Amino acid sequence: MVRKTLIAGNWKMNCLTQEGTQLAKEIAAKVKAEKFDCEFLICPPFTLLATIKKCLRGTKIALGAQDVHFAEKGAHTGDISPLMLTDLGCKYTIIGHSERRVDHQESNELINQKAVAAHKAGLNTVICIGETLEERENGRTIQVCQNEIFGSVPDDATAKNTVIAYEPIWAIGTGKTPTVADVQEVHSAVRKALAKKLGKSTADKMRILYGGSVKPSNAKELLALPDVDGALIGGASLKADDFIAIAQNAPK
Ligand code: PEP
Repeated sequence: MVRKTLIAGNWKMNCLTQEGTQLAKEIAAKVKAEKFDCEFLICPPFTLLATIKKCLRGTKIALGAQDVHFAEKGAHTGDISPLMLTDLGCKYTIIGHSERRVDHQESNELINQKAVAAHKAGLNTVICIGETLEERENGRTIQVCQNEIFGSVPDDATAKNTVIAYEPIWAIGTGKTPTVADVQEVHSAVRKALAKKLGKSTADKMRILYGGSVKPSNAKELLALPDVDGALIGGASLKADDFIAIAQNAPK
């Protein structure tokens, strides 16, 4: 089953215009200069989407947002609709990142609603799941991740419009990562949950990214795992050299 590796950068709430432009231009130049087998995605903050879109022109790097509202338009002060994102040239949006699940109390139901709306507008989604440290220590990782799959992934999800990102919350921005055996175990369980929900054929084709302190030094072993189909990268996506070095470690 061929699943093209996806190397995705989540810039979170970082970069003003000058810094973001420079970073995107550096990444774009490096991606153009080399032959990569993988796909690339960059998710800057909303404020930089239009600017970064211009920097990525002529490259194969897709543009994505970090969140979206489920409504088409209307009285939702401060929110951004799916069509606003496609209008700016976005191909993807991240949904259900743990920083939104925790900081904004986003539920599986809300994430599911957002995914349906995004797909309807033609956006692909990167739906994030992952356990807390306490859940891991209590042996609940697989159960938590499978529940998040059943609750957050909509029935209309296909291998084309949906990517899953498994991000253990305790590994995000901490420099800690699970063992490769643990990562493979969770990814395989996630794929089984996807098969139960969407059918085996869709699950076999759907990409499952790993996220949480991915860096050049651990990318090779993580990306080589049979059920890991790419990476969602936070901190290391803010340095062009590191982001590209991770992609260079993607399996050929
Ligand atoms: C993330 O927040 O999506 C992430 C994976 O962050 P980091 O790579 O910094 O751990």
